[in-house]
Amino acid sequence: TVRTRVAPSPTGDPHVGTAYIALFNLAFARQHGGQFILRIEDTDQARSTPESEQMILDSLNWLGLEWDEGPDVGGPHGPYRQSERGDIYRDYAMTLVEKGKAFLCYRTPEELDALREARRAAGGHTALKQSDLALPPEEVERRRAEGMPYVIRMLVPEEEGACEIEDMLRGTIELDWGMVDAQILLKSDGMPTYHLANVVDDHLMKITHVIRGEEWINSAPKHKLLYEYFGWEMPVLCHMPLLRNPDKSKLSKRKNPTSILYYQRMGYMPEALLNYLGRMGWSMPDEREKFTRNEMFEHFDIRRVSLGGPVFDQEKLSWLNGLWLRENLSPEQFAARFQEWALNPEFLMQIVPLVQQRVEKFSDVAPLAGFFLAGMIELDTSKFEHKSLQTEDIRKILQFASWQLDNERHWHKDQLFQQLKKLADGMGYKIRDFLFPLFVAIAGTSQTVSVMDAMAILGPDISRARIRHALN
Ligand code: ATP
Ligand code: GLU
Repeated sequence: TVRTRVAPSPTGDPHVGTAYIALFNLAFARQHGGQFILRIEDTDQARSTPESEQMILDSLNWLGLEWDEGPDVGGPHGPYRQSERGDIYRDYAMTLVEKGKAFLCYRTPEELDALREARRAAGGHTALKQSDLALPPEEVERRRAEGMPYVIRMLVPEEEGACEIEDMLRGTIELDWGMVDAQILLKSDGMPTYHLANVVDDHLMKITHVIRGEEWINSAPKHKLLYEYFGWEMPVLCHMPLLRNPDKSKLSKRKNPTSILYYQRMGYMPEALLNYLGRMGWSMPDEREKFTRNEMFEHFDIRRVSLGGPVFDQEKLSWLNGLWLRENLSPEQFAARFQEWALNPEFLMQIVPLVQQRVEKFSDVAPLAGFFLAGMIELDTSKFEHKSLQTEDIRKILQFASWQLDNERHWHKDQLFQQLKKLADGMGYKIRDFLFPLFVAIAGTSQTVSVMDAMAILGPDISRARIRHALN
């Protein structure tokens, strides 16, 4: 039976790209009466968080992408969280060492830098092969005896030539072995890299078709080798075109909101967002633009995926969402959905503590906190008038804050404040003045609840989008 999977890494907000890939995996599995698995690839312990994992599960659920096996629902091939499978990867890494297909590498970071530097100076490719990394046996023995840290690396072909990869959409792809380095499989802390964990799990979880973003094509030669070394059959590969910004560059949060949470908070219907993702590189045989998940599954054919980069355009999504709102909801359903979106207890309880102390009657709430329910804020220059800030100051502050927030990994109130305070100090502004343009960009006015609280509740994508909007 066909088994597909989506394998997100829980390192940030749930990405629309993850939902897009999940949708096509699910559609392929359903079309063939197979199963769809959710696996959490959290081997990067420094960047993975349980909160991020929970948001991914919640977001995919919200979109109606259901999985047959996964960390929350279990299944016969678990655990489905890579951080719980460490012993499995270590065993398989040692198997390869015993087979002579992998080796313990005691090179220090300084030596690796020097090797790469020498490579660059010589103008050659930078991939380091086992022969580049080799140390004399006595030296290996000495470092081992000293208990120096080591990694396990795989052997790769050293001679010139191409690796041929079969791709369901692209046919045969040729990749140069010269670009493939003696990849680390197991890190010095005993954790696997993506490549080892991914191959071992796809095999043990009996995945038949790997449908993933094209950014992974370059990993395919390493994976192919690993399947050969283990003596396992390789799943069929299918690399989907990446989502793009309207300017055709790769979809990125610097230009476009990429978090599913953003689209949820902006008030899109999950059915419409899923419908739109289904139109990314794919179309119904009759080219109709509006279709349900089940209609898509009924007519799904992966060969209809086109490789031209699909543009994720928020205006097009809004248009489609409008059709869904008007045509698919009765007034009662609209009311129920709106209530769920605007007044659900979880959201309300984030806001109430901020407003309760500041109002005299319920009718004061909307003027004070209505911006929590808005999309982009209507702004004109008069709103930015300030006794000690000029127009250039306003722009400078918004621009630098925007850059700072683009790089913010920990979207928590205190963290945000510290970072912005540091920035304000560095730029020579009083923090009170510095925050004024942010208040206006986020809430339309400085006469409201704390802007740090507001940004923390609205989340990174809406906050960034409003600041970008204010800059335009
Ligand atoms: P950004 O460029 O906005 O920082 P990113 O590439 O860092 O985005 P990640 O957090 O690395 O995003 O990716 C999260 C998930 O989303 C990954 O599974 C990745 O494959 C997928 N993804 C990221 N960008 C795209 C895209 N343009 N199209 C499809 N999937 C994507
Ligand atoms: N963890 C990888 C990701 O975040 C999985 C890639 C794959 O599907 O092989 O996209």
